[in-house]
Amino acid sequence: MIVEKTKNKIKCDASGCNNIADYCIVNKKFIFDGSVYLCDSCMRELYTEIGKFIVPKNLKPIYKKGVKDEQKF
Ligand SMILES: [Zn+2]
Repeated sequence: MIVEKTKNKIKCDASGCNNIADYCIVNKKFIFDGSVYLCDSCMRELYTEIGKFIVPKNLKPIYKKGVKDEQKF
């Protein structure tokens, strides 16, 4: 699944929303087949809702492994 910004002048796919889409969710093998277009407002709303269930994992600590690996070169 890929989320990308779109410059296509396509209406937001959220029902009841008449904004022009800012983002495109491209998915060809999962729940839906094709692309879903969302405006910035609906994307933020979706993100907030997802955040109730899924919290992004922390990235690897930069100062421990990253620095040593870079010093090798
Ligand atoms: Zn929308």
